[in-house]
Amino acid sequence: MPRKRKIRFVEPASRPGRPFNAWVSRQPLLGPLLLATILDRQGYDAAVYNENLSGRLEENSEAYSDVCASDVVGISIMTPTAARGYELARRIRRDSPATRVVFGGIHATFASQEAQQYGHLVVRGEAESVIGPIAEGLIQEGVIDSPALENLDELPAPDYRLMRDFDRLLSQFPARGLYALPVMASRGCPYSCSFCSVSRMFGRRVRRRSVEKTFEDIRNYVEQGFREFFFYDDNFTSDRDWTLHLLQLLQPLNIRFWAQTRVDFAWRDHARHQLDRALLESMHKGGASTLYIGYETIDETTAAAWRKGYRGAGPLRERLLEDTRILHENGFWIHGMFVAGPKHTKKTVEEIVEFSREARLDSFHLSILTPLPGTPLFELMRPQLVFTNFPDDWDFYDGTHCVYYGAREDIRVLQEAVLRAHRKFYRGYGWSLRRIRDVLGGRASLGARLRWAWSTAQTARRTLQEWERETQRFIEIATSRLSSYRPNLKPLPPTLSQ
Ligand code: SF4
Repeated sequence: MPRKRKIRFVEPASRPGRPFNAWVSRQPLLGPLLLATILDRQGYDAAVYNENLSGRLEENSEAYSDVCASDVVGISIMTPTAARGYELARRIRRDSPATRVVFGGIHATFASQEAQQYGHLVVRGEAESVIGPIAEGLIQEGVIDSPALENLDELPAPDYRLMRDFDRLLSQFPARGLYALPVMASRGCPYSCSFCSVSRMFGRRVRRRSVEKTFEDIRNYVEQGFREFFFYDDNFTSDRDWTLHLLQLLQPLNIRFWAQTRVDFAWRDHARHQLDRALLESMHKGGASTLYIGYETIDETTAAAWRKGYRGAGPLRERLLEDTRILHENGFWIHGMFVAGPKHTKKTVEEIVEFSREARLDSFHLSILTPLPGTPLFELMRPQLVFTNFPDDWDFYDGTHCVYYGAREDIRVLQEAVLRAHRKFYRGYGWSLRRIRDVLGGRASLGARLRWAWSTAQTARRTLQEWERETQRFIEIATSRLSSYRPNLKPLPPTLSQ
């Protein structure tokens, strides 16, 4: 029997010390796992290493030998993991010259020429259409464009058994049913926010897996003992009929899930007169527990500039408070996500925290607007970038570092303000009724849920401490960069600084 060709995929680690590493390690990318699943079903020897779980490959001799013994290694890079991906590629090519190194993922798509310097082949776009010929060795080098798959039902459900050390991740949870297993039923986003590369990567037309297939995937995972899920979809509720149908099927499974959606999804009309009670009720009954809401901003000017498309009349802040109250009244836990941009000051940051506390958000994250390759923002802000020692400086393009000069606040002031915002929000972050209800509502034994709640609180505390150290380190680097770069930097363009 001919030897099965061996294909390994790698998700490179985040930089050590980066805040949120503990959270990132729980939420692996689905792309590499899907590709491995496709190849496994076609008879290849395929597997995935996620360095956030398995550790740096060169420090894990068994894993590294396995990767070096493969015919093809696919490295999936996002902007903050690009430098690590290139370092890995250099090592693998040095230690195993016969292995073909292929780059894919969002960063490789938009910085393909850069990625080509480190790999034999770069795939731009979604790789499912070309992974077969690549695995077979029929496409070996260059840069290729892979057409997006029209029918997502053609994809298998990701097979987590192909992810090495996934059991190690599960063992961190007191019960398997407490791990929110990532799933994804759609690709694409109809919006085109200037700072985001999602719609540029996956298109503005949303493609969906059918309700039946999505339900079947979840039911199979439930049979494997999973009871909590995390829908990675950019907007879970954007197609009302699809969502209602899926929720109806999910009800008897008695699962819980997290999903990303808009804060105003419950309104059926632009004037905000008709509340979609059927959808709210179905979401609750179908198991939606935590909603990830990208508020991004609470002021009208920024919302318009970022094309958030908030509906209705009256002050935006009041509308957002009302929307949040409606979601809370329907029993959802809300993780609010905001972005501080170059026009914002530390006062804006304080106002966002005040809003978040007044809205009684259950958890909170404030990012710093980051120009990413492939977005109009990146081209617009190029002359203001202080961190341009690429690829190493891509490490800082992760939403927690201010990488440009000329914002209304100095880099250092903004960094401190964002850290302080988290400290302030989480100060006295105690056991609210909703928090207790959330812990009690989990699908695992009470002991397991309490242990899990305790360990989550500890992880959050450690994350804040890591972030404080990281902020100090980053401010030192920024200070030295600014002293040598400032003469060459230009003020922000009017579109961003007005
Ligand atoms: S930020 Fe959200 S809404 Fe805007 S393009 Fe990206 S995914 Fe779509």
